[in-house]
Amino acid sequence: MATPKIKSKTSTPQKSNHAGERPVAPKAAPKPKRFKSAYSKAEMEEIFRRFSVQRPEPKGELEHVNPFTLVVAVALSAQATDAGVNKATRALFKIADTPEKMLALGEEGVTQYIKTIGLYRNKAKNVIALCRMLIDEFGSEVPKTREELIRLPGVGRKTANVVMSMAFGVPTLAVDTHVFRIANRLLMAPGKTPDEVEENLLKVIPDQYLFHAHHWLILHGRYCCKARKPECERCVIADLCRSPEKTVDVPAPLVELPQQLIGEAVE
Ligand code: SF4
Repeated sequence: MATPKIKSKTSTPQKSNHAGERPVAPKAAPKPKRFKSAYSKAEMEEIFRRFSVQRPEPKGELEHVNPFTLVVAVALSAQATDAGVNKATRALFKIADTPEKMLALGEEGVTQYIKTIGLYRNKAKNVIALCRMLIDEFGSEVPKTREELIRLPGVGRKTANVVMSMAFGVPTLAVDTHVFRIANRLLMAPGKTPDEVEENLLKVIPDQYLFHAHHWLILHGRYCCKARKPECERCVIADLCRSPEKTVDVPAPLVELPQQLIGEAVE
């Protein structure tokens, strides 16, 4: 039997400013802000197709031998160059490539190896706390999900994204200073915070390019669309770019570039 429709007499009450005057409709809740990319789907495809021709196999530079040493290396790389981190971790990872071995070194022991890296005291403390948590809560294995990874001491969303992508092959988008600048400067996925930019970029980057997108954007930012002054005359997407800062409209020739390393310098 069909449910009979009952007319409610108690519809949403409307505010009235004064007795007898017209009721004032309640204020609508603010709509969630929607971002708008300056590029169509086809344009985004073309931008990333060109990046993929320029750098078919972009690579990160942080040395590691397993997911555990990768987490440690990425956590140590905050505010430091990858080359500087590698110099310190080469010797460290030779004797401590598991949470148990690292924990056995103790905070002082780890400090001795990473002294050349910025903020080393705090980082050594985090590395030891991270090992403890891996042993106690994760059976000494690096967890695979972002929610679990960001619970580890010294591991933020960016580190978690890098680990998920490099250790487990999950396409993610870690937003660093270059990615943040490009997303905003090019009006590709504007956002006020790295999280906002990440969320917006994930909506506009074509799926098939997502895996390398983080590296392409970093390299484009480091070598071409530089922070202080973009080198638009060397840019392969100059014809498509909608940045108010761009200085030329003619794209540079699309050729494969020699290998450039990610993480050479801190800006
Ligand atoms: S044209 Fe200039 S501003 Fe636009 S992406 Fe290229 S380098 Fe950056």
